[in-house]
Amino acid sequence: MPYEPTAPLQQLRTDAVFAELGTSPRGLSTAEAARRQQQYGTNELPHPRRKGLWRRFTTQFTDLFALVLITASALTFAAYALQDPRDVGNLQLAFAILGVVVLNAVIGFVQEYSAERTAQSLQAMVPHTCRVLRDGERQELPSASLTPGDLVVLEAGDAVSADCRIIEAHGLTVNNAPLTGESSAVRRVTEPSETRTALESRNCVFMGTTVVAGSGKAVVFAIGATTEFGKIFRLTDEAPRQQTPLQREVGAMARRVAALAVAIGACVLAVRLQTGQPLVDTFVFALGVMVALVPEGLPATLSVSLAIGVRRMARRQALVKQLLAVEALGSTTVVCTDKTGTLTRAEMTVTQLWSGGEPHAVSGVGYAPVGTVSDADAVRDLLWAGVLCSDARLVPPADHVGWRVLGDTTEGAIHVAAAKAGLDLDALRNAAPRIAEFPFDSVRKLMSTVHETPEGRVVCVKGAPQELLARCAGVRTGTASRPLTEALRATVTSADDAMATRGLRVLGVALRPVSAIPGTSEEAESHLTLLGLIGMLDPPRPEVSDAVGACQRAGIRIVMVTGDHPLTAEAVARRVGIVTHPSPTVITGTLLDGMDTAALDAVLASPGELLLCRVSPEHKMRVVAALQARGEVVAVTGDGANDAPALKRADIGVSMGATGTDVAREASVMVLLDDSFASITAAVELGRSVYRNIGRFLTYLFSHNIAELTPILVATFVGFPLVPLTAVQILAIDLGSDVLPALALGAEPPEADTMERPPRSRRERLFSAALVRRFLFLGAVQSIGVCAVFFWQVRSSGIPFADFTADTSAYRKATTLTQAAIVVGQFFNALAVRTDRQSIFRVGLFSNPRLIVAGCGGVALMAAISYAPPLQAVFHTAPLAPVDWVVLVGFGVLLLCAEEARKWWLRRTPLPSKLKKEGRP
Ligand code: ATP
Repeated sequence: MPYEPTAPLQQLRTDAVFAELGTSPRGLSTAEAARRQQQYGTNELPHPRRKGLWRRFTTQFTDLFALVLITASALTFAAYALQDPRDVGNLQLAFAILGVVVLNAVIGFVQEYSAERTAQSLQAMVPHTCRVLRDGERQELPSASLTPGDLVVLEAGDAVSADCRIIEAHGLTVNNAPLTGESSAVRRVTEPSETRTALESRNCVFMGTTVVAGSGKAVVFAIGATTEFGKIFRLTDEAPRQQTPLQREVGAMARRVAALAVAIGACVLAVRLQTGQPLVDTFVFALGVMVALVPEGLPATLSVSLAIGVRRMARRQALVKQLLAVEALGSTTVVCTDKTGTLTRAEMTVTQLWSGGEPHAVSGVGYAPVGTVSDADAVRDLLWAGVLCSDARLVPPADHVGWRVLGDTTEGAIHVAAAKAGLDLDALRNAAPRIAEFPFDSVRKLMSTVHETPEGRVVCVKGAPQELLARCAGVRTGTASRPLTEALRATVTSADDAMATRGLRVLGVALRPVSAIPGTSEEAESHLTLLGLIGMLDPPRPEVSDAVGACQRAGIRIVMVTGDHPLTAEAVARRVGIVTHPSPTVITGTLLDGMDTAALDAVLASPGELLLCRVSPEHKMRVVAALQARGEVVAVTGDGANDAPALKRADIGVSMGATGTDVAREASVMVLLDDSFASITAAVELGRSVYRNIGRFLTYLFSHNIAELTPILVATFVGFPLVPLTAVQILAIDLGSDVLPALALGAEPPEADTMERPPRSRRERLFSAALVRRFLFLGAVQSIGVCAVFFWQVRSSGIPFADFTADTSAYRKATTLTQAAIVVGQFFNALAVRTDRQSIFRVGLFSNPRLIVAGCGGVALMAAISYAPPLQAVFHTAPLAPVDWVVLVGFGVLLLCAEEARKWWLRRTPLPSKLKKEGRP
C-alpha cells in the first residue's frame, strides 16, 4: 500500500508536514525507517517488461541485408523448382544463403543481448546514493532505501531520488526539465502554497529532477512508482540503438560494396551469357557471386568489437555510456583535467595553519585525529570558525573501516585539524547552531554560515584566500583585530603564496558579528575579519605520473583546469609531470575574463605547458569551445553541477564515479569509477586500439573478397568454361573461415606502440587510402596463390579447357584447391594484419590464442569438406594430397613474408610526430 497523505502537503506549514509524516527535524529513527520500508516497499521504479527473446530474434530478419539475402535465396529456390531436370546444387545454394541469414541473425541477436546486459551491469557499478538524516545523524544511503518520512539533505549537483516537501532551503534551485519539460531552473521555497497539486507548487521537489544550486532539506512523501516521475515513466525495453559516425561509415561502406557486388554479378552474368552458358545456371551462379561478395557480417562484427572495447574499458575503471566515446577517445588531442581527486588522491590533511602572522605546523596524516598542532591556542578561533562553516562529518572507525569523512574532504580535513587542536566538534556545533547559510559555489569560491552563539550572532566565511581577502576589513592578530592595511594584505598574500608553492590547497577563514541574518551572500560576505589560513596537503596519485608521460608520448596535450591557487596548481602539476618547463603559461579566471576570442586563441595556439587556475565552470566551457574551434578533440573532466555544460560540450565529457555529482555523471559520456587520470589514459589507449582493430578486420575481410573474386574473373576472361570456385564454396568460406577470425581480430589487445603515435586525425576516415592499399596488396598476393594452384591443377591434367565439365575429377580437385588456398591464405592473412608496422614475430605469432583457434577451426572445416564424402557431395570437392597442403601453406608463408617486408619498409619512415614537447615561446 503506498503512503497517502491526509492533507495536501504543499499547503501545510513545515511543522505540520513533520506531524503529518510522523517525522521530525532529526529524521526517522533507524527502526521506524526499517518498519516503513517493510510497509511501503523500496524506492525503485518497476522493471520494464521486456520484449520476448523470440520476438527480438525475429526482428533481426527485417534489416536490409537480411531481406536482400532472403530474396536471393527465394530466387535460387525458384530456379531449382522451375528447372527441368532439377539441379540439387541450386537447392543447396538456396539453403546456404539462408544459412548466412540465420548466422547473421544469431550474431546480431547475441550482440544486442550482451550489449544490453553489459549496459545493465555497468549501470549497477555507479552507486545511486543520497544523504539522509536518521536518528539526527547524517548518513549516505542507497537511494532505493528511502521511505516516506525520511529527511533528505539536498546539495547542488544531486539528483532528487524521491518526491519530497521542502522544509529548509538555502538558494535551493531545481531543474524540473525531465519531469515538466521546462528547461529553466526554478528557485524552491519552504512556505506553504495554495496550489492544488504538489507539482505546481514551489515547495516540493520530485524524483528524476536535479538540484542546480543551493542546498536544503526535504521530507520524502512519495517513493518508487507512486512518484510523479514513476507515474509518467515507462522504461522502454529497447536497448539504445544510437549509431556512431563510425558505425554509419561502415554501414554506408557495406552498402556500397553490396552495390558493387551486384554490379560485378551483373557483369559476370553478361559475360557468361555471351559465352553461351544456360540462362538459369548463369543467373544462379551470378547470384552466388553477389551474395558471397556482400559483406553481410560487417555491421555485426563492428558492433561486437565496439562492445568488447566498452567491456575492456570498464575493467580499466572507465565506464563508457555511449559507444561514440570509444571512437572519439582514439582521436583525443587535448585532455582538460581537474586537479583534486583526478591527479591527486583527494585525501586532504591539514599540515600548516597561519594565524596572527605566525605559521603553525600540524602533525599526523590521514583522517585519524591523531597528531599535534603547534601553539594550538593561537589557532583555536580559526579552526572553530572553519568547523562551523562546513557540512562534512568526521566518522569514527566502524566495521573494519578507519576514520573517514562524510562529505567534502577539504572540510573534513579542517575537522581533523580541529580535533588535533583539542576542540570538541560536537560540543562546538551544539553551542553555535547554524541558522542560515550561503553554500559554496565555484564562482564565488566562498561559503558562509550564520550561527547563534552565546556571544551573539556571527557569520563564518571560508574560501579561496584572495577572494576572501577582497571582502575583509580587518585581520585578527592574537585577541585583537587590526585594520587590513596594504602591508598586512601583502603579509597574508605572501603567507598564502608560500603555502601554495609547496602544493598546499589553501583556504582562508573569516568572521563577522551581525545582529540580523544577512539576506544575501554579498551582505554576509563583507566587512569580514580574517582569522587565518589553513593549508592542506593532497598527495598526487601514484599512478598519475606514468599516465601523464604516456599521454605526452601519445601526442595528447594535458591542460590542468582548476579552481585552485596558481602556485598550488603549478606545484601539483610539476609533481605529476604535467609541467616541466621553468615558467609554464598560467592563465587565471580574471585574466581569461579580460581576453577576447583572438587573445584566447593565441594562448591556446602556443604549444607550451598551460595551466588554467582560479577558473569557474563558465571559463572551462569557454576554453573547451575555443579548443574545439581550433580543431582539437577535447576530453574534459568535471565533477560539479556547474560542469555539466562543459561536459556536454566536450567531445568526451568525463565525470567522476566516486566523488562526482549526479548531474555531472548524467552529462558525461564516460564515468571514471576510480576518479583517476590514469583511467583516462587507459581508455584512450583502448579507444585507439578498438579503432585499429576495426581497421584490421576490414582489411582481413576485404582482402579475402579479392582473393575470391580474382580467380572467377580470370576464368571468365581466359575463357575457362567453369568457375574456379562455386557459390556454395564461397559461402562455406564466408561462414567457416571469415566470421570467427574477424571477431578475434576485433578483440586484439592494444599494440605496444599504441601510445607512441600521434592522435588520429578527426578527418581521417576508416577507409583511408592506407587501408585500401593494404587490402589490395594482401588480396593481390593471395590471389596469385589462389589462381596459381587452380590453373596449375587444370593445366597439369592435360585436358583442353573446352572439355572440362562439372564432373571432371581434375576440375573438382582444382576447385577444392582454390577453396583451400583461400582458407589457408586467410589463416596467414589474419596473422599478418594483427600489426600495422611492427613485425608480427615481435608481438608473438601465437599471442592471440583466440585467433589461432578460430583459424584452425576454419582449416579443419576445409579438411572436412575435402575428405568427408557427404560434404564432398554437397561442395563438389575432392580429397587433397598431403603435398597440396604443403604448397598451400607455402603460399601462406609467402603472404606473411610479403606483408613483413611491407611493414619493414614502413618502419624505415618514422611516424609523423606532434610529440616533441616544446617550452613556452
Ligand atoms: P580542483 O581542481 O582542485 O578540483 P576545483 O576546480 O574543484 O579544484 P573548487 O572546488 O571550485 O576548485 O575550489 C576552488 C577554491 O575554492 C579552492 O581552491 C578553495 O580555496 C575554495 N574551496 C574549495 N572547497 C571549498 C569549501 N568547501 N568551502 C569553501 N571554500 C572552498
